[in-house]
Amino acid sequence: MNAWRDYYTNPENIEKIAKFCRYREVVAIKRLKDRNVTLRPLKIFKPEHFEYWFNRTLKDCLFDLYISNASVKLPPLPPGLSNLEEARRIVNEKWRKYLQQEETDFVTGFDLFADIDIDAMEQRDDARRYALKLWEELRKLKLKPQLWDTSRGFHVIVLGRFDPMDCFALLRDICNKAKIPTSMSRICERCGNLYIADKCPECGSTKCKVAEKPRVDLAVSLDIRRIRRCPYSLHSKTHKPMVRIC
Ligand SMILES: [Zn+2]
Repeated sequence: MNAWRDYYTNPENIEKIAKFCRYREVVAIKRLKDRNVTLRPLKIFKPEHFEYWFNRTLKDCLFDLYISNASVKLPPLPPGLSNLEEARRIVNEKWRKYLQQEETDFVTGFDLFADIDIDAMEQRDDARRYALKLWEELRKLKLKPQLWDTSRGFHVIVLGRFDPMDCFALLRDICNKAKIPTSMSRICERCGNLYIADKCPECGSTKCKVAEKPRVDLAVSLDIRRIRRCPYSLHSKTHKPMVRIC
């Protein structure tokens, strides 16, 4: 717990974290002995804002810190821990209006985000390999992908103003072509081919099994309200920071 607290009281770390929280909805999940407590929405624009929440409610427990994958124009929110429910109501209303196209300027960006998820630490080598391959393929398309190690799974992110449906279709097609397993991928039981289709394009067989983790979870990339781990925050299971590989 001491190393954990040292990390979160180091000004350099807080500065990096606060930078990634700007213009995002921030969510903290406290990991208590017998339950999780979700704090949302937090608004963090400056290191002082992070310090406020840390000192107020996070300093004596493990927690995970997440940011919205969408950039949003958060409205003024009532401050403090006791007003979170009211703040949540206000932000949910913003989302409702945005999704019903009553207010189009609430969301100002949406990152292309691929989550390469694992079940067990032994899968990290494969997950890293898939993430790197995906990163390379996105570079070939002249995008500027970032590859991050969450200390469990890996994230490949392109910051920008993408359409969720385009992200989904692009990642699905890249993964299918580059033989990167996804949540939609099948493994042919006859020839071992990895594919996304109704039947195996190699041998025509329909006998298949689903690709297990590590794999890219494609539903994640499609979800406009998705939250993802905040870069440079610590993982409550590994106690390690999320760091950029390339
Ligand atoms: Zn086949």
